Amino acid sequence: MSTFYPGPSKVYPQVEEYLHEAFHAGILSVNHRSATCMDLTRSVLTHLHRQLQIPEDYTIYFISSATEVWEIIAQSLTKKESLHCFNGAFGAKWYEYAGKLVEKVTALRFDVNQPLTQEEVNRLPTHCEPDVLCVTHNETANGTTVRDWTPLVAKFPEAIIAVDATSSLGGVNLPWQTADVWFASVQKCLGLPAGMAVMVCSPKALERAFDINDRSFYNSLLFIHENFQKFQTHYTPNVLGIFLLNKVMEHIDPITVIEKKVANRARAWYRFFEDSILPVTCLVSNPAVRSDTVITIQGSESSIAYIKAITEQHGITLGNGYGAWKNTTFRIANFPAISDLEIDELKEVLSSIATL
Ligand SMILES: *Cc1c(COP(=O)(O)O)cnc(C)c1O
Repeated sequence: MSTFYPGPSKVYPQVEEYLHEAFHAGILSVNHRSATCMDLTRSVLTHLHRQLQIPEDYTIYFISSATEVWEIIAQSLTKKESLHCFNGAFGAKWYEYAGKLVEKVTALRFDVNQPLTQEEVNRLPTHCEPDVLCVTHNETANGTTVRDWTPLVAKFPEAIIAVDATSSLGGVNLPWQTADVWFASVQKCLGLPAGMAVMVCSPKALERAFDINDRSFYNSLLFIHENFQKFQTHYTPNVLGIFLLNKVMEHIDPITVIEKKVANRARAWYRFFEDSILPVTCLVSNPAVRSDTVITIQGSESSIAYIKAITEQHGITLGNGYGAWKNTTFRIANFPAISDLEIDELKEVLSSIATL
């Protein structure tokens, strides 16, 4: 059995051994204010900084989910207005969640084949004055990526930039310095079981948090920050998740190596479908905005259903389409935890369908 679902996705195979280790080390019952737990947290933060090349002055926090980070940004980092740039279901959800909490939200929707251009940004209404810019780095729903948000920064230099990198963090060497808040839940590109997210903040983001001084919620960023300075959390955290993240960060290749491998595999996947005689095409035709970590393939409802059924018969799960593309696409996770062998097996099954 193998899964190409883009979340929850295949976990690193070593997780099995790590789970045993966690159990036998007694970590599952450890007090979250104990020295053991604080050492563990300190260790993960060090590894995350090193392995993912996160700048030293950017702080890292553990949150329960990416969805929760959307709320934290709205509650603790937004003064009046957030601008949401998106072309798919996850960006749209973030916009909806923020809309319930923030005084004003504005949406900038763009096409799946469009990069975020200066012309798009200039079309925003003049009364749009966001203090937070929200970008989905990798739209898991349709396999597009936003690689450049300089047009936004040029227009709103005072704003802080928040980037949802849920399905790319761990597979792509992110340009940390170009944004103030980055986050991802761990069940996608980080190859871990669900139940935790990582949030990364720049000094400018923290300044904003102190400026707003929100302390109204259990998950107000300043509470989180103050506890993390002692390597603690303000509630009993997912210690197993933290333990597993530490193990994975200790053992994976440096992100520059992973990124290269993921990019090469992505190119091979796109070429595979472009060359294939299967009655399907890549949903995203513009190579400049194609995701390296989530490959989305489009076809008629019947072709998509047929391909998913045959691969399932071979013990391989493809990702269903999502949102507007639910029945007319399938998605292939191109996450680092997936092995070359699994990819070869899937390609073999797909090729056999093509020759039927
Ligand atoms: C999966 C996903 C989320 C939601 O993650 P949760 O862990 O369910 O909160 C948010 N954004 C993107 C881009 C995602 O892929």
